[in-house]
Amino acid sequence: MLNKYKIESALIHGGIYGDQQTGAVNVPIYQTSTFEQRGLGQNTGWEYSRTGNPTRAALEALIAELEHGKAGFAFSSGMAAIAAVLSLFHSGDRVIISSNVYGGTFRVLDKIFKNFGISYSIEDTTDLAALEQKLTPEVKAILVESPANPLLTVTDLKAIAGIAKKYGILSIVDNTFMTPYLQRPIELGVDIVLHSATKYLGGHSDLVAGLAVVNDEELAQRLAFIQNATGGVLGPFDSFLLIRGIKTLGVRLDRHVENAEKAAEHLQNHRAVKKVYYPGLPGAQGFEINKRQAKNGGAMVSFELYEKYNIKRFFSSLKLIALAESLGGVESLVCHPASMTHASIPYEVRQKVGITDGLIRLSIGIENISDLLMDLDQAIAESEAR
Ligand SMILES: *Cc1c(COP(=O)(O)O)cnc(C)c1O
Repeated sequence: MLNKYKIESALIHGGIYGDQQTGAVNVPIYQTSTFEQRGLGQNTGWEYSRTGNPTRAALEALIAELEHGKAGFAFSSGMAAIAAVLSLFHSGDRVIISSNVYGGTFRVLDKIFKNFGISYSIEDTTDLAALEQKLTPEVKAILVESPANPLLTVTDLKAIAGIAKKYGILSIVDNTFMTPYLQRPIELGVDIVLHSATKYLGGHSDLVAGLAVVNDEELAQRLAFIQNATGGVLGPFDSFLLIRGIKTLGVRLDRHVENAEKAAEHLQNHRAVKKVYYPGLPGAQGFEINKRQAKNGGAMVSFELYEKYNIKRFFSSLKLIALAESLGGVESLVCHPASMTHASIPYEVRQKVGITDGLIRLSIGIENISDLLMDLDQAIAESEAR
């Protein structure tokens, strides 16, 4: 079915669609740990659900097709997917990560993989010439996010893939913020795509899951081995929920993005707002690159209030938008990067990279946009020093 249908249709009918046996339009939930064998050495193609499960296999085929890759793998969380991909490397290898990768990605490298002799270095992946200088022989991969948290920094994915190819190393993209509906890194030459499917792919803030897609048979075999050997697999019920979530990804994201564009514009014109970070706004960092490599700017918007506004009062005054970590659900969420997602970064470093105490990150949901803008406006008004 690969490439036969447009993405809106592939989201609904892609991968292994329905059930051959009964004609059910949905993939059944094969809630089983093991499969009876017909005789010694005669299995049905399924043996044990860590190794493979038909519901999970349907999801894995679906994400591979959506990302235009060769094979997909489903894990119990985004971090389990990332840890499995990092298990491809050996002692002595080094991985370059972009300066604003997800905190958990940094943490697993710094606190776990480092102990096994896999080193990392943090680089500004928007500066390609400087990046190339860092490619010493022990560097085996470059891992980037675009746009990246929380300043929505855009990295040129095609250029990163090109540099990786030139040096014979792997390019890895965490595509959580965009999803294959908005951006398909493998089409740009990237080797491995990662997802926290907890976010937009699931879309309803009701499950934790991770996905990986590779575009090479040998890599697929190695990752299948790691997935089975380390065992962080996604269960059948969560696999079903994720397939169900993915079916509506297109319509959800259309509304998410429509709302995000309006919110970014509204905030940009607000007298209380010092700066808006949104890759879909003309003039934003990486606006042209993002336009080339993605369908639009996505639905994450960050903004900074002027110092005279009381940030604590802003957050406590919001009525519709919930203060919470995570993103990508149908409901709008807000977070304060300086004290929440990026609290582990020292104050001086935060100031330097632009994660100021006045910075606010929004995951724009699919509610009515005027309700969202009204909530933001009244909370900003409440936060004004009196
Ligand atoms: C949430 C997130 C992760 C981690 O995923 P979990 O499902 O929470 O384990 C990784 N990368 C990005 C960009 C994320 O937003």
